[in-house]
Amino acid sequence: MPEGDTIRRLADKISRHFAGQRCERCVTRDPRLVGVDLAGATLVSADAVGKHLFIRFDNGFTVHSHLRMTGSWTVGPLAREPEWRRRIELWMETGRLAGIDLPVVEVLATAHEAHVIGHLGPDLCGAELPDLDEAVDRMHRQPDDPLATALLDQRNVAGFGNFYAIEVPFIVGVSPNQRVGAIEGLQQLVGLGAALIRTSAERGPQNTTGRRLDTADHWIYARRGRPCPICAITLDGYEERDSPWRRVSVWCPDCQRVDSTRAVDGVRLNRLMALHPARRQPSFPRLHAPATSPSSESPKILGGC
Ligand SMILES: [Zn+2]
Repeated sequence: MPEGDTIRRLADKISRHFAGQRCERCVTRDPRLVGVDLAGATLVSADAVGKHLFIRFDNGFTVHSHLRMTGSWTVGPLAREPEWRRRIELWMETGRLAGIDLPVVEVLATAHEAHVIGHLGPDLCGAELPDLDEAVDRMHRQPDDPLATALLDQRNVAGFGNFYAIEVPFIVGVSPNQRVGAIEGLQQLVGLGAALIRTSAERGPQNTTGRRLDTADHWIYARRGRPCPICAITLDGYEERDSPWRRVSVWCPDCQRVDSTRAVDGVRLNRLMALHPARRQPSFPRLHAPATSPSSESPKILGGC
């Protein structure tokens, strides 16, 4: 599923291509869009809030969509998908804009956008820095939730998907199964996630290691059953059907043990993020030493991961 950084990049791409352009022709092929015709309207801007995409027009209407697992937008060239999958297709002055297989799509009054996003927590990839205090307060309302559940709940904080719900806990040495109410340094953990996702929104692709920054590189995502890149123990995880948060998951049973309380490991965080440009983000946690490190030794990073 696309995460907040991907939707932010998509919104920026649509704005770059088509802001200020008139829609010359509009075709809809979706019962939720019956009667919609944006021909003659000018695209003002595209914006993202969490994983929600808003494409605004000067006639006071907005195309709102959420891509979930299946949707996509083609920006510029003619979409290759069969016509019936192009739920909305707009002929702009210099190219096409087509929404493909959109699980959520509607046209609403721009003034009513808040109705569909009012429940969301702080937006990780918005123009303003997210309010980490508020995100943590919201996560603590359900203190027994596993960490991954809390990170994925868009009412807590808007934008994280499964990629960050796996990678961020690994970097700080906390299990995705750890009760969110029993984590010391939760704000630093969320701040790290915000720094990573905002870096990706600015420069893409999703990269949590800081190596080969022009490629999607990560520590353990999709690597269940392979050796941990830090301690070489076989990575554990859930299939989607077994997961309390209904997503495939991965963690290291040694680096990310579940304890009665667990602290963010600042030594590990600094070591694993030593090369990463997310360090320059304002929300990046400034931890020179952990409050209580689960490991007395600085983690050694194994090669070949
Ligand atoms: Zn490990």
